[in-house]
Amino acid sequence: MTAPASIKTRFAPSPSGHLHVGGARTALFCWAYAKGRGGTFILRIEDTDQKRSSDAASIGFAKDLRWLGIDWDEGPEFEGCGGGPNGSYFQSQRLPIYEKHLRALLDSGKAYYAFETTEELAALRDAAKRENRPFRYTASLAPARSEAEVAALRESGKPAVIRFRTPPAAITIEDEILGSATIPAGETDDFVICKADGFPTYHFAVVVDDELMGVTHVLRAQEHFNNSAKHIVLQDALGFRRPIYGHLPLIFNPDGSKMSKRDKDKVLRKGLAEKGVSAPPDGTVDPARFAAWLKDKTTQLELEESTALAAHFGITLPEINVDDFRRSGYLPEVLCNFLSLNGWSPGGDLEKFDNEFLRTHFDLPRVVKTPAKFDRAKLLSFNMTAITTMPRDEFVRKVAAHGAAFHPRFMEKLSEGQFRGLCDASHERSKTLDDLFRTNGFLTVADDALLIDPKAVKKVLEGGSPTGYEHLKALRERLGATDDWSVAGLEAAIKPYAESAAGGNLGTVAQPLRVALSGGTVSPPIFDTLAILGKASATKRIDLCLAHCPATL
Ligand code: GLU
Repeated sequence: MTAPASIKTRFAPSPSGHLHVGGARTALFCWAYAKGRGGTFILRIEDTDQKRSSDAASIGFAKDLRWLGIDWDEGPEFEGCGGGPNGSYFQSQRLPIYEKHLRALLDSGKAYYAFETTEELAALRDAAKRENRPFRYTASLAPARSEAEVAALRESGKPAVIRFRTPPAAITIEDEILGSATIPAGETDDFVICKADGFPTYHFAVVVDDELMGVTHVLRAQEHFNNSAKHIVLQDALGFRRPIYGHLPLIFNPDGSKMSKRDKDKVLRKGLAEKGVSAPPDGTVDPARFAAWLKDKTTQLELEESTALAAHFGITLPEINVDDFRRSGYLPEVLCNFLSLNGWSPGGDLEKFDNEFLRTHFDLPRVVKTPAKFDRAKLLSFNMTAITTMPRDEFVRKVAAHGAAFHPRFMEKLSEGQFRGLCDASHERSKTLDDLFRTNGFLTVADDALLIDPKAVKKVLEGGSPTGYEHLKALRERLGATDDWSVAGLEAAIKPYAESAAGGNLGTVAQPLRVALSGGTVSPPIFDTLAILGKASATKRIDLCLAHCPATL
């Protein structure tokens, strides 16, 4: 198929939650395809499913896309993006447009009102099941009614949907990625194009909007491939163009399951079972909802509920949505790079590239047909490389912005100097922008509120010969006499002691110090830890720790 002169793609999310990484990848490919060819990229919000949509979600989507570096020429106006001559870009605000086209189909007999109740439809479905045939709704199933009878029923307020009278012919879908497929005549039923609440269905709205907005290329997830048959018959009935289709492979977990928000529920159920939790803590989830969720493994909690429960019990949920990855400290450019490799590759060995490269190189022939596997370890390794190789000042700036957004309390507690010291000590081992916040909470507690892990006390302080406590006492004296509290000064004060008391093994003397300063066995390098805390706090923590030393040690 020859490409139209001016390419227009669109990303059309239903704002029913958060932007899933699969959706982000679709957006990225649509953006790159259009922008790399001097075309137009549209963002359209498919919010006709009133139960599931929300304004907040639409804004969330826009924010996530901007964070990823994706801008749109037409669409909702947000941070300098959007606007355009084909609005509104919210489907819920386009009802009169859909009504006009629905009316045209009704008037020409290509669509009709159907009045079956849910129960009646269920009975028809059961009958088909009993007879071992697939259930497909066609006009012949409905009682024959004259125009006047239909009008009278409508007048009486009886709920009705509008169905499309699908022509009895085979439908061929041509796909730039998957090739072509023919759906035999009779397989596509008389599907609903307008719901009883007056809102068009996805199938109808998408066809009208793609035509009116001039969309030339529909790139979307493979799960919509079969829907294309419905879209094609509607396009023909309405006298519309047929856009070029390209269905993108789904993103799977390495175990072959679809990567979805259910994964969070799965991990949470497992984590709670391991901890023996049978009731939710106050303020997390309604107890009845929680009980039902625990019982029925197919149900899901709202994101806010699962996040609250996970936070309460210290369970780490897998990242699924773009916002999860942002919170976890992934860089947007790394996420885009990695997502692009889920289903596409530029060829050769090249794996690391930016959005600009994607824009100029993305094409459809190199999109794969089979599902992509989301390799978290590879993403983390990409992220770590990008973080550890960035200039120090950039790292400090990015960590500070991440902290301001997600760890404001932590940021408040540290002075500028302490924060810089922590960044210096953490940069070369940071896999994410969040690592530093997750592992250094001890810096933000008051000296006398520091809790010391009893296991570390037993192993590190009470154990050894000399014991950790003995090292700590000796070091306390040296540190008390040290005025140069810089990393170099502290090194000069402690290293000779490690030489004389531990045969040069710094770890032996650093670990007791670490337990006293941080409450556990993990902290930045010991000289940095001391320097960041400062003399007053460090010596106070050591004194408080020594005060617990049993007289016998
Ligand atoms: N609103 C649909 C979705 O979120 C878009 C499908 C399409 O691109 O046609 O899956």
